[in-house]
Amino acid sequence: MNIYDFIPDFFFGGTKFECNICGFKANKWLPRGHNYPIIRELNIIGAGKRNVDCKKCGSSDRDRLIFEYFKDLNNSASLKNKTLLHVAPEKTLSQKLEYRFDLKVYRIDYRAKGYRFVYDKSVIHGDVQQLQFEDEQFNIVICNHVLEHVKDDNKAISEIHRVLKKGGFAILQVPISMELSKSIEAEENWSRNEKKQNLGQHDHLRLYGQDFKTKLFQHQFEPLFWHFNNPENIKQFRINSSEFVIIASK
Ligand SMILES: [Zn+2]
Repeated sequence: MNIYDFIPDFFFGGTKFECNICGFKANKWLPRGHNYPIIRELNIIGAGKRNVDCKKCGSSDRDRLIFEYFKDLNNSASLKNKTLLHVAPEKTLSQKLEYRFDLKVYRIDYRAKGYRFVYDKSVIHGDVQQLQFEDEQFNIVICNHVLEHVKDDNKAISEIHRVLKKGGFAILQVPISMELSKSIEAEENWSRNEKKQNLGQHDHLRLYGQDFKTKLFQHQFEPLFWHFNNPENIKQFRINSSEFVIIASK
């Protein structure tokens, strides 16, 4: 529940935009993100204050981009019965992927004490740095804006690689600046403010740069940046035109 649930849909409704996940037609989107100078200075992709959340289903610009990637993928090969591990799942994206493409979806979240998101029972406890699954169990893993929060992202990436089947892939969205050749790691003693100033968010432990690709290579992944090249749909679905899907194939 948030304050926007008390505002009638028609206040946001219209025909200018459309949520590709729930179908809600809108003239306005809800705000998300932060407005710290570092985000503009380094042109951090996947960050910044912007009006992009769907009033109806809560999807964000990046959820809608991922959904377009799956639609594109499903055009060339059916996803039916493929297994998907969704880490810290975005509820409506996760549900939509499951029924639209007939995927078998497993959902985990760390759910630390005081965590503000409420999940349904389909989401079980799990730590991406130490997954409770067998080797080579999944065709797909989605880990959308999680790696910047975990203490040991190398461990997390190697765990994702371990549970993926050969020929499978992971979607590993992170806040990334292509103007940084080297990722910035938080110092152990950085305060919330220093994290905001240096990384763009108070609870991030790193900001990725161009070397993220190298890191994926080091974990035996084949990385690829997928760009959604449909200007009309980018506008209609309110997707960030500079964001790309980060795919790591095994
Ligand atoms: Zn929606």
